[in-house]
Amino acid sequence: MTDRFDIVVIGAGPAGYTAAIRAAQLGLKVACVDAWRDTAGAPALGGTCLNAGCIPSKALLETSELFVQARDHGPAHGLKFKELSLDLAAMQAHKDKVVSDLTRGIATLFKAHGIASIPGRGKLLPKNVVEITGASTQRLEAEHVILASGSTPVNLKSAPFDGERIVDSQAALEFREVPRRLGIIGAGVIGLELGSVWRRLGAEVVLLEAQETFLSMADEQIVREALKQFTAQGLDIRLGARVLESKAEKNAVTVRYQSKEGERQESVDRLIVAVGRRPSTDGLFAEETGLLLDEWGFVHVDEHCQTNLPNVHAIGDLVRGPMLAHKGMEEGVMVAERIAGRESNMNYDLVPAVIYTQPEIAWVGKTEQGLKAAGIAHRVGVFPFAANGRARAMGQTGGFVKILADTHSDRVLGVHLIGPGCSELVASAALAMSFGAASEDIRLTLFAHPTLSEALHEASLAVTGQAIHLAQPRRAKP
Ligand code: FAD
Ligand code: NAD
Repeated sequence: MTDRFDIVVIGAGPAGYTAAIRAAQLGLKVACVDAWRDTAGAPALGGTCLNAGCIPSKALLETSELFVQARDHGPAHGLKFKELSLDLAAMQAHKDKVVSDLTRGIATLFKAHGIASIPGRGKLLPKNVVEITGASTQRLEAEHVILASGSTPVNLKSAPFDGERIVDSQAALEFREVPRRLGIIGAGVIGLELGSVWRRLGAEVVLLEAQETFLSMADEQIVREALKQFTAQGLDIRLGARVLESKAEKNAVTVRYQSKEGERQESVDRLIVAVGRRPSTDGLFAEETGLLLDEWGFVHVDEHCQTNLPNVHAIGDLVRGPMLAHKGMEEGVMVAERIAGRESNMNYDLVPAVIYTQPEIAWVGKTEQGLKAAGIAHRVGVFPFAANGRARAMGQTGGFVKILADTHSDRVLGVHLIGPGCSELVASAALAMSFGAASEDIRLTLFAHPTLSEALHEASLAVTGQAIHLAQPRRAKP
């Protein structure tokens, strides 16, 4: 007999598990099918984010930053260590424990919400039947199906993964020794975060980026500051570098690439390929369903994540928009609520972005170059962390907060941050913007002293040239 559910979710990453939990909260009978296996071969919920993305990378970033703080900044704080050494195996064990605690946490949440968690590979068949291939093959009938199968790393012909010397981001989280010299193709978010981890632990890091521009999605003023600080940290970022060929040998990889100066060659111990991710649609649906993909291979959806098939939604990395866990989670909530009959929507203009380097980079809303291109008159308020008491106490004075406000309405159109704690500060900006705040609303809000968040307050004052802790207050632009 075929089991019948109100909703079958395919994929238990942040998008899928959130949709499953929200739907169960709303009283629906839910099953969630997921194919992920941990290194021991056991099913593990949480998808890329928990198992091989957000969480393990942040555990490694956190530990490596502690190491740098102690090694490079301890003496300035009066802390002296006779000997500071790295136990990489212990660092990896810490990361693995963070991951397994959280993936088990999702299993507990599924149980608590009465969600049927089914290990295996799901395939959408016509009439909303989901076939699951695992230990055995079974079929589920569903009133609604939510596709949430996520994404996988893009493979380059000029640097094919071999799992040993030429690796993807997942394998790069598992290195058992610090590479002496590490090559990374792609100076995007993964390249910068993982490059930072291994640089902090002592590797020489070379990033080969095909584009002439660095971090083209971020505000240009932030990008200039980031490039300056990353270069000072020893990240060797080479723009306009097109990889032609990579050859893995026993102990090294030789990478040949084209740059403005001509053809160049680099020898590295390991090479990480981080040139983006592609939606996971292989084997996800039977041709006869008629499910429509867009020209980039994402499942085609409308603004409510409805596919071209009745009662079939798709969410997360599988569909258009930024490949971010919180974007997928929010889509999961929206879709579950809409299925339950609520009129939920999502504001795609206010998805915050964070790069967890040091300094952290974060933003929400429009960039200054975007506003200029669109011809939108705006005022700019910038406040540097060098003038913030808390940042000085921390010894982390690089970077600034920048607020862009509409000249006529004063409404905040974008907030861009680079510096300490910016991954947390951006939440205040997103909150303000989601209420349609003007820069004056932030100006009239009390911020505790001494906190990093005062830099956000001062940036709002700077929009009209009223920042208190700037030696040369800017005059408001007409
Ligand atoms: P996924 O998390 O990819 O989950 C999809 C799940 O579906 C997987 O478990 C997969 O095995 C399963 N699946 C696939 N096909 C099938 C099938 N046919 N049947 C059953 N199961 C299937 N984002 C952030 O917001 N912040 C970060 O700090 C961040 N850091 C990252 C660091 C790294 C190194 C990487 C690689 C990514 C990072 N991301 C981060 C991106 C984030 O991981 C993704 O945006 C997020 O995981 C997407 O969620 P999802 O649920 O759509 O898909
Ligand atoms: P990305 O899009 O951030 O960066 C890829 C970079 O590779 C780009 O700069 C691109 O120009 C470059 N590139 C592409 N082809 C190239 C080539 N042939 N040679 C050299 N460079 C090339 O992608 P990513 O870093 O792989 O990350 C994948 C996704 O995961 C991103 O969409 C990101 O949103 C998500 N992610 C998010 C976080 C976070 O939120 N902090 C962290 C990691 C990953």
